[in-house]
Amino acid sequence: MAELIDGKMISTLIKDECKEKVAEYKKQGISICLAVIQVGNDPASSVYVNNKKKACAYIGIDSLSYELPEETTQEELLALIEELNQKKEVNGILVQLPVPKHIDEKTIINAISPKKDVDGFHPQSVGSLCIGQPGFVSCTPAGIIELLKRTNVDISGKHCVVIGRSNIVGKPMALLMLRENATVTVTHSKTKNLKEITKQADILIVAIGKPKFVNSSYVKDGAVVIDVGIHRNEDNKLCGDVDFESVKTIASAITPVPGGVGPMTIAMLMKNCVDSVSLQQEN
Ligand code: NAP
Repeated sequence: MAELIDGKMISTLIKDECKEKVAEYKKQGISICLAVIQVGNDPASSVYVNNKKKACAYIGIDSLSYELPEETTQEELLALIEELNQKKEVNGILVQLPVPKHIDEKTIINAISPKKDVDGFHPQSVGSLCIGQPGFVSCTPAGIIELLKRTNVDISGKHCVVIGRSNIVGKPMALLMLRENATVTVTHSKTKNLKEITKQADILIVAIGKPKFVNSSYVKDGAVVIDVGIHRNEDNKLCGDVDFESVKTIASAITPVPGGVGPMTIAMLMKNCVDSVSLQQEN
């Protein structure tokens, strides 16, 4: 039976480490501030934004909250981002996605200064990750690396298969595993013989966005399985992209949903905010 990779516990550890660092910075007269912008009032986005603000409060990071109406124009949003880019006391800028349809997401992401891009979505951040230069890394994949390292999963030399190639999960995940010296295969909706490939994985990372898609027939005996998916089933219960009950019988370690990858995303956002201080000092 697979060992459970406890994202709740590990995320708490990371948040507590961040809290300590923030306290040290405060002693040196340095405070950290995250600006969080939400456009419109999508209920799911409001929950995410509130959780981020709560995490900031727990750690001792100041948060500036901008709740803009749905009809905010792209120009107005860009003007606010530019104002925050210029503000010395703001270390990180986060625009909660998705933005309303009349606003172009790419233009917004590109407008955030790479020095304050704590979500790690700016092309310069992604490029830096690709060529091994310092920069912010997308929070969910960065959290998965922490989960693996802190449960003593050896990554170097292992075959890692990533299902999914999105800009926020699959692609940065593959780059990070490569940086950790894994041999990486990225699969997607056009991949032929998916099962044959996933069955070769020592570490299988599933970010496909389809509830319970991966069952034990996709998994090699003893593989480590990381489930990035989050879905609500018919009974309003959370489940992942992995059929947990089936895969836990064959994997050596597995992340549950909830309590696996999910809590790591906010923890890594907090870590990015803390790391922003040294990154901004370097530049
Ligand atoms: P996404 O943008 O929808 O990407 C899904 C990827 O899966 C795409 O690359 C797609 O391939 C691939 N795919 C779809 N069907 C496939 C198939 N039959 N075989 C192989 N590959 C297939 O999703 P995402 O944003 O990466 O998110 C993935 C999941 O993670 C979602 O459930 C999301 O809710 C969850 N998520 C969780 C967190 C967290 O904090 N835990 C954060 C982000 C996302 P193509 O590129 O060819 O279309």
